[in-house]
Amino acid sequence: MIDNVMSELIIIGGGLAGAEAAYQAARYGVDVTLYEMRPIRQTPAHKTGLLGELVCSNSLRSVFPDTAHGLLKTELTIANSLIMQAARATSIPAGSALAVNRDEFASFITQKIGDHPRIKVIREEVTLLPDQPAIIATGPLTSDALTAAIIEVTAEGSLYFYDAIAPIVDADTIDHNLVYYASRYGKGTDDYLNCPMDEETYNRFYDALIEADRVVKRDFEDEKFFESCMPIEVMAHRGKETLRFGPLRPVGLPHPKTGEVANAVVQLRAENAQRSAFNLVGFQTRLKQPQQQKVFRLIPGLQEAEFLRYGSIHRNTFINSPQHLDRFLRLKLSRPNGYIYFAGQLTGVEGYLESTAMGLLAGIFAARDVLALPQFRPSNESACGALLDYITSPKVDKFQPSNINFGLLPPLEKNIRDKKLKKQAIVQRAIEAWQVFIAQAHR
Ligand SMILES: Cc1cc2nc3c(=O)[nH]c(=O)nc-3n(C[C@H](O)[C@H](O)[C@H](O)COP(=O)(O)OP(=O)(O)OC[C@H]3O[C@@H](n4cnc5c(N)ncnc54)[C@H](O)[C@@H]3O)c2cc1C
Repeated sequence: MIDNVMSELIIIGGGLAGAEAAYQAARYGVDVTLYEMRPIRQTPAHKTGLLGELVCSNSLRSVFPDTAHGLLKTELTIANSLIMQAARATSIPAGSALAVNRDEFASFITQKIGDHPRIKVIREEVTLLPDQPAIIATGPLTSDALTAAIIEVTAEGSLYFYDAIAPIVDADTIDHNLVYYASRYGKGTDDYLNCPMDEETYNRFYDALIEADRVVKRDFEDEKFFESCMPIEVMAHRGKETLRFGPLRPVGLPHPKTGEVANAVVQLRAENAQRSAFNLVGFQTRLKQPQQQKVFRLIPGLQEAEFLRYGSIHRNTFINSPQHLDRFLRLKLSRPNGYIYFAGQLTGVEGYLESTAMGLLAGIFAARDVLALPQFRPSNESACGALLDYITSPKVDKFQPSNINFGLLPPLEKNIRDKKLKKQAIVQRAIEAWQVFIAQAHR
């Protein structure tokens, strides 16, 4: 247990977020003690005792600078991220993605952290929240005892969730000639975009959905989840009509011009007030990502849709960050001997680099508090700032984890019609905003 630790900052969890946070805080000259329970105690998904182990895919997504993940990489690199250093040093050829040799990647991180004069690594499970400044970065598979301790301070009924995430598409890539705004039975405002399917289109879509490859389920991801939040393809396997009486039911959604009721209707719900991104309602899925593209592009209006986020389902643990964290990732509930910060996937971001980004920010914020330096926040025009804003902004109605996507960044003041130029302008603005933050944070 943590007692008599003389370091200025404790970090619990040596995954992507915890390792990044430790590295960033130590750069400030803060003494850090990093607790990692592996290999003494394993999670159901990790296999080694290495810090920064990737639990699943070895891909850190796109390298193209004009994609949301490309932008996140640029920002992390500007901030001298340890995880990005490891990724570049251990990358392997993977087309447009930054993929890594996973063992070399985690070994690089383990060695850098282990060799750092200001970081001490202790292999131990932490079961209580420390009574001194600390960052909790224990990830989606936080151990049961610590989860119980977090539940106690957040007063949440439970922190375990099975994330059932529906895909999100870029509004600019929807064919608006084939879809229409309407809400069922005209109730409320016309907030949904509706994609009508005739019988032939539905049959083609159904057959493709049934045949598509799914991601293999992990042992610890039990089936009981599926009853409460069923993947679209599992529902489809129950019978050809199940979807037409479920999420694709057409009743109450006649076409506003012809009055015709389609055979089936896929509804898209806006992700933000600017309606720049839409999610596919009821389309939580375990289909592999290329299969999602192939099958969901059969939906009228989505034939050229760009996916900002793919659907997924996996076990997760996250806190209701907008309710519990302040603007600097600190637990709002005040504690007598220093702030408790949260970082990584626990904060409700989704993905390797997103977790890293929240580790990086938590490390900077915590170090500045320990050293009694003024705090700065990155603008939400940057990718890291947009993620931070998303998880700490109380304006989100029902908080759900998110990966980075351009839908989280505010629209440009002046709209640019050309899609490529528009993305370039958003990326340029983001990098400038991020550079301002990094200059302030390291002044
Ligand atoms: C099964 C599964 C598959 C996933 N696949 C992908 C994918 O393909 N791509 C992707 O981008 N994201 C994926 N994710 C999400 C992924 O977990 C995160 O993106 C990322 O690893 C989160 O980083 P983190 O630092 O927050 O947590 P982690 O990387 O999980 O690190 C948390 C660390 O805390 C340690 N720990 C836990 N409890 C304690 C304790 N009480 N005391 C001390 N140490 C503790 C753990 O051992 C672990 O090392 C997946 C998640 C799961 C669960």
